[in-house]
Amino acid sequence: MTSIPRLRGRSAKIVATLGPSSRSAETILLLAQAGADIFRLNFSHGSHDDHRRSLEAVRVAEKILHRPLAVLGDLQGPKIRIGEFPKGSFRLGFGEEYAVIADNFAQSENAIPVPHPDIIEALEVGDEILCDDGLVSLIVTHAKNGAVRVKSEFPSKLSDKKGFTVRGKALPVDALTEKDKDDLKFALAIGVDLIAQSFVQTASDIENAKEHIDGRTPVIAKLEKPAAIESLEEILDVSDGVMVARGDLGVEFPVEQVPVIQRRIIRAARSRGCPVIVATQMLESMVDRVTPTRAEASDVATAVYQGADAVMLSAETAIGRHPASAVAIMGRIIAAVENADDYRESLKQYSGERDIRTIDVIAEAAQSLARSENAVALVLRTGSNRRLAKFAQQRGEVPILYGSKDYVRLRKAQLLWGVHPIALEFPEAENWPEALLEEASLKGRGAYAAWRGDGEDGAAWELGTRDSH
Ligand code: PEP
Repeated sequence: MTSIPRLRGRSAKIVATLGPSSRSAETILLLAQAGADIFRLNFSHGSHDDHRRSLEAVRVAEKILHRPLAVLGDLQGPKIRIGEFPKGSFRLGFGEEYAVIADNFAQSENAIPVPHPDIIEALEVGDEILCDDGLVSLIVTHAKNGAVRVKSEFPSKLSDKKGFTVRGKALPVDALTEKDKDDLKFALAIGVDLIAQSFVQTASDIENAKEHIDGRTPVIAKLEKPAAIESLEEILDVSDGVMVARGDLGVEFPVEQVPVIQRRIIRAARSRGCPVIVATQMLESMVDRVTPTRAEASDVATAVYQGADAVMLSAETAIGRHPASAVAIMGRIIAAVENADDYRESLKQYSGERDIRTIDVIAEAAQSLARSENAVALVLRTGSNRRLAKFAQQRGEVPILYGSKDYVRLRKAQLLWGVHPIALEFPEAENWPEALLEEASLKGRGAYAAWRGDGEDGAAWELGTRDSH
């Protein structure tokens, strides 16, 4: 692959979650220098003030580095939590039975408070309840008229406000809670570039969020519920991106299903040109340690071999001791895979079946023209992020330089595989391709291919190759 001096020398992107370990302006700059392309504000944690300050620091880093950086606002979604116990926690014994009560607070140690009467109502005998990300497992032994009893599967400890989920069951909850609506309003007001919606179950969950967002940002569906996997095609039809949210996916499904589902999602997303992020526990041991395990390096590599648009760091950068090293190591793993002999072959295996439309033919032609001319880059100018995604979908060998004057567009493009967004002062100028190459330090290094698609659905477009001088 051609190396780009002033740009990242890789195609897959890195999402870094901000948190107590990484919210300072200095650390955010370090993360960006180490290779973070997108910064995630996790609305399950932190205050609005924390998030505002983080976003401002990302914008400062962007100016210093002269490189568009995106901010992703990740909404908490309807994460169901249990209530509180008299002593803050209690120990469950093997095979012991407990009552589940519709309350915020348990008066006795033999009851588990769940302040959601409609969810208790939906429970049935045999349902498997998991709390605290699966560290507590309970089987429903009795469920009648709202009176529910459960049996503990193994000795464990349950403490206040831990997460509560029923494996494999669609629960009667709204995907956008009041907290989400409030966070969404705030996130849009401060100007985040992308929104991620958690615990999506149906395509209409995304459509509903889109009504609130009103076109201001793309929406990424976090795929973590069995119902979402069942409606995968419909969700992909309406989403601007998806995330393989393996943390909750591994609670909702048996853990051995996670890699199987990851492959299925990546194939389906890539077949439509829908950007896909692989998330959670990618370099988890780096929360404490300065190097990852070999298995973790291999996990990141697998997502890259499968052609994910981006890989994500969560606890590693949010609460870890070595946030910038985690980003740098992730970048090195990506680059190693992208330079490996069998990488292109592997990418093909995960491209999925696709419908070919005009824009796909154009994007494919642009890549093959660039390749046949041995071009140093394929330079693009378009006002449509969807069209740009079609060029990324090719997973072509020639790097794509996307130029625009509009930072809002450039930041959104940061999620796309192989797309290097570059600020152009005069995008309408005759010499826009040369100006883009100049910015990328590629001017005078040989031929380039250029595509300009300004009309509706690429109706007015121009494709050609030239030598840069
Ligand atoms: C996940 O569950 O994998 C995930 C990304 O979501 P969160 O980090 O918000 O729990």
